Amino acid sequence: MTASEPPAQATTVFERMSRLAQETGALNLGQGFPDMADPPELIAAAQRALGGHSNQYPPMRGLAELRQAIAQWYAREQGIPLADDEIVVTSGGTEALASAIFALVRPGDEVILVQPLYDAYAPLIQRAGGIVRLVDTAPPEWQLRPGEIERAIGPRTRAIVLNTPNNPTGTTIDRAGLEAVGALCERHDLTLICDEVWEATLLDGGRHVSALHVPALRNRTVKVGSAGKIFSLTGWKVGWVIAAPHLANAIAAQHQFITFTTAPPLQRAVAEGLCLPQSWFADHRARYRAAREQLTAGLAGAGYVTLPARGTWFVLIDLAASGLPADDLRIAEALVRTAGIATIPVSAFFAARAPHGFLRLCFAKREETLSEAVARLAAFRDAMA
Ligand code: PMP
Repeated sequence: MTASEPPAQATTVFERMSRLAQETGALNLGQGFPDMADPPELIAAAQRALGGHSNQYPPMRGLAELRQAIAQWYAREQGIPLADDEIVVTSGGTEALASAIFALVRPGDEVILVQPLYDAYAPLIQRAGGIVRLVDTAPPEWQLRPGEIERAIGPRTRAIVLNTPNNPTGTTIDRAGLEAVGALCERHDLTLICDEVWEATLLDGGRHVSALHVPALRNRTVKVGSAGKIFSLTGWKVGWVIAAPHLANAIAAQHQFITFTTAPPLQRAVAEGLCLPQSWFADHRARYRAAREQLTAGLAGAGYVTLPARGTWFVLIDLAASGLPADDLRIAEALVRTAGIATIPVSAFFAARAPHGFLRLCFAKREETLSEAVARLAAFRDAMA
């Protein structure tokens, strides 16, 4: 690298698989985005907002009506009361994570991450000068073991990042797990960044358990949310952080120099969307539950074994249990090149010590996409086994 060259940042496996899917015409069950019709209520709201309201810089912390709608939605859906100064609207969950990490992490600070992990965490921490400490969870349950987090805590530990429901495993952290983390955060004076962008995707019912439900974490947590996930509009990039005012203020100070604001028509549309009745959200989840059932039943019929999941838009195939080599990179490559199916190797969600026995498939797809995918996966397994 010369002085004028920027440092290399590897392209993510998601980009690579999507590009390969495009080049080869493969069905893309890799990157997590729906191919169903966009929710018409949100599209109409955005169109109205675009023509009927200002398109100039909205307030730095987000439109007042969106912050109000976020507060009302969390009160209704999760029983969490929020004050206006605890909400900062960001350009997606990714910018929420970036602003939070830049606000909290100083050079030399250690941050504990739990594997498998979302790919943005480690590069952002490193960009802030922080040092990543990894803690593993193991298949098939991928359950958080607070004792292992405690062992990773040292004098320079500043924060812990958790993700529930988890991408890629679809598992959740229960209240006892979050309480144990809360006790650690209190004892060691740590902040928790809790990535809850998948909170609206618990497909079998049951209420999402947030870190903000735990009293010890209420003022130590930065909760990250994303309208892209709640409304299946991943390209909109409207997200937010929820945190006690002293944290929210520090995060807003970063946000003002990263993106400053987010497109106001989309903010207005999300505000309207969050005010839709609870039945709308139940119907939305039901469509995804049906898609998950279609894919898991189809895979089972074709001889694949999948792991149980409560949330997200993903299922994991257990390769060895499915009679295939436990080599996720090789199988993902073969699937996209010879069977016309893009998937994501789960080892991509590990920075070290990766297991190689699992593939992630996104089921947020139309019925015909999933039927065709199952037919291709069945033919692939027959040819391999
Ligand atoms: N966190 C997790 C765990 C995710 O899966 C994603 C999106 N795939 C994000 C954050 C980023 O959300 P957004 O698209 O709103 O930036």
